[in-house]
Amino acid sequence: MEVVTKKDVDVVIVGAGFAGLCALHKLRKQGFNAMIIDAGSSVGGTWYWNRYPGLRVDIESLEYSFSFSDELQQEWEWSERYASQAELLRYLNHVADRFDLRKDISLNTRVVSAIFDDATDKWTIETKGGNQIKARYCVMATGFLSAPNKPNFSGLDRYEGKQYFTTKWPDEKVDFSDKRVGVIGTGSSGVQVITEIGKEAEHLTVFQRTPSFCVPLRNCPLPPEYEKSVKSNYAEWRRREREESFGGWISVNYKPVRMVTKSALEVTAEERLALYEDRYQSGGLALYNVYPDVYTDMEANDTLAEFLRDKIRERVNDPDVAELLVPTGYPVLGKRLCGDSGYYETYNQGNVSLVDVRDESIEFTTKGILVKGVEYELDSVVFATGYDALSGALLRIDIQGSGGSKLKEHWKDGALTALGMMTAGFPNMFFLNGPGSPSPLYQPVLLCEEQSDWVGAWIMDMRNKGLTRIEPTERLEEEWVEHSTKVINATIFPKAASWYVGKNIPGKPSIGLAYFGGIIEYRKRCAEVLSSGFKGFKLSAARK
Ligand code: NAP
Repeated sequence: MEVVTKKDVDVVIVGAGFAGLCALHKLRKQGFNAMIIDAGSSVGGTWYWNRYPGLRVDIESLEYSFSFSDELQQEWEWSERYASQAELLRYLNHVADRFDLRKDISLNTRVVSAIFDDATDKWTIETKGGNQIKARYCVMATGFLSAPNKPNFSGLDRYEGKQYFTTKWPDEKVDFSDKRVGVIGTGSSGVQVITEIGKEAEHLTVFQRTPSFCVPLRNCPLPPEYEKSVKSNYAEWRRREREESFGGWISVNYKPVRMVTKSALEVTAEERLALYEDRYQSGGLALYNVYPDVYTDMEANDTLAEFLRDKIRERVNDPDVAELLVPTGYPVLGKRLCGDSGYYETYNQGNVSLVDVRDESIEFTTKGILVKGVEYELDSVVFATGYDALSGALLRIDIQGSGGSKLKEHWKDGALTALGMMTAGFPNMFFLNGPGSPSPLYQPVLLCEEQSDWVGAWIMDMRNKGLTRIEPTERLEEEWVEHSTKVINATIFPKAASWYVGKNIPGKPSIGLAYFGGIIEYRKRCAEVLSSGFKGFKLSAARK
């Protein structure tokens, strides 16, 4: 039930995932009266809503965790190299208790609108249950992979079987043991859920539009010696994470590594393959840490793609099935690598079949799915069709800024932001891990820590100066979008139809969604906001 105990605060934070909890803790410590509002019945954000079988994070637990408290990072004992959803949810609940956050969190409360008042420089946040909360500042910690993408499949309304969504899995265990199951979607979520359902279902049919590049996660109980070595020098590990653009996957074979500085094309084929093999054997996302030009040059990129294509051919017994699973036509890393735990071997099982739908739309019948004139009868269909990423969760709330301007209108051609933290015309609203930020390729937990610090520092400075309103100029926003566009256009990323660039959703504009210029440049620009006296921002005090 919706219970909102506070009606007027300094800061409303929307979302009780990693970012929201972090912001609440940090802003409260600075003396701000802050509260979180979240639609879920528990804290956890993404790790609360997503609970499908097989779900675990693809960044090592010792890295994908808060660094703001050394006591916390020392005392929490991760059981596995890559934490499962259940363990992450336990961790975030522990954080909420340990830092006494719950008293300032309203759960079961969905925000439906946020409307800015130019006279008072305050937001009014309205909830589904009709509560209204006034706040000087609004911090949107709504998640960058939280708004589900539900494609409009033809005939779905007539399908009589059961439907499950990886983005909103039932609380209770679903038993697929005597069921004919179909899965649509072969991204990170699909790869994980397919592997698990394949172990159980009477028959599993996977409907694949685009094959992914998958690498073995090599999850295991957390090696005690590794945990000891990280914890004995955690500050140094965190420093290394923060220095790498792809912070969060710096560990290769349990040792921190840096990106190689050579070109993939200037070394011998043997040297290149040895490096790729080393990273592949290490497991997880270590293959992001190879040669820098795999991100910028298609020829260099293809050396890595070909290495991974061969791995697929080695792992799948039937050569025809293997060829269907081999990704072509887009660069490796252009879509996020999928960490797998036996995914390709699933297709060697007698109870699993693969249907290629790349040239064919999926059509539902009453009994199942029809593709190229063949009907697949299915008791259940699992949708692993991804997210309206980065901007989606924000655009699902009715956000009205200065003069009643609507965010939907402001962002109709792209997610325009300044530094991925604010947008022109929407004063006093901040985004954590939002569009225009480096979160897709950096480490979102570390990023939300830094972004919370910047928000805290900016609004503290304003408070000290008696100011009540901050917003970026349109010029700053244009500059940021221009810079971000220039940076991404020099990479391979626009060549893949991924959520990074919005191309996973028909008609979604690509502009401004993610920043691929690296954390170092990003951090420099964010730090300059305060040191330059808010250059590019408009600040003022309320008229009443
Ligand atoms: P995703 O990568 O966007 O994958 C969605 C899948 O659904 C794709 O295979 C897509 O095919 C397919 N699809 C969408 N619409 C379709 C349609 N109309 N017909 C047929 N197929 C359709 O989404 P995701 O798997 O949920 O992963 C999103 C991100 O979440 C990941 O990249 C990762 O960052 C994060 N994630 C991480 C983990 C982890 O840490 N292990 C787990 C899950 C998710 P196309 O490719 O052809 O569009």
